[in-house]
Amino acid sequence: MVLFGGTFDPPHVGHLTMAQLAWEQTGADEVWWLPAPVPPHKAHQQVDDYGGRVEMVRALIDGYPHLRLCDIEASLPKPSYTVDTVRALQTLHPRVSFSFLVGSDSLAQLPNWGRAQELARAIPFWVAVRTGWPFDETYAASRERLPELRAERLEMPILDVSSTFLRERLARGLPVCGLVPDRVLRVWNKIHA
Ligand code: ATP
Repeated sequence: MVLFGGTFDPPHVGHLTMAQLAWEQTGADEVWWLPAPVPPHKAHQQVDDYGGRVEMVRALIDGYPHLRLCDIEASLPKPSYTVDTVRALQTLHPRVSFSFLVGSDSLAQLPNWGRAQELARAIPFWVAVRTGWPFDETYAASRERLPELRAERLEMPILDVSSTFLRERLARGLPVCGLVPDRVLRVWNKIHA
């Protein structure tokens, strides 16, 4: 199983593409999306309500039966780090082998995540490259601080799209040109009505 954690505020075609390609390239049965209730590194930022982001992710992955929402993080004691989620899922599904999907900007940040050494030991990573964070250099730099880190690069064209860019456009009432699919936009409009 591939685990895909994120804020998804809002979820966009970059997320959808990397999840689909991860499913194709890893041979995993499914990709499980894990929206973070309030991600520790984004506590300073105004983040849309968890339920709303869950609904947007559901809308994004509608029609992709191998992509599934997993809301386990809602029920874990706070503050909960990614490693707590991974451990909880590994305990619940002892026969399943898990990997974790991130963008290369997150690969660069991994050494700063809570209990990063334990996380690196617990699960291997698949990485979608983002502008400014080339895979080899980023992996090498993170590995200096996390010697047990295991990561592989996903074959994927760089899609230079972020939730930050889309939040700004949505806040100004500007079109997002399909980068947030219409089915997701309908949920966003409902939340922000
Ligand atoms: P923000 O702009 O608010 O930081 P984001 O677009 O990076 O948001 P997140 O929900 O934080 O979206 O991302 C979840 C995961 O997906 C992270 O590991 C991030 O690196 C990765 N990711 C997001 N967008 C892309 C993209 N376009 N290409 C590759 N990886 C991406």
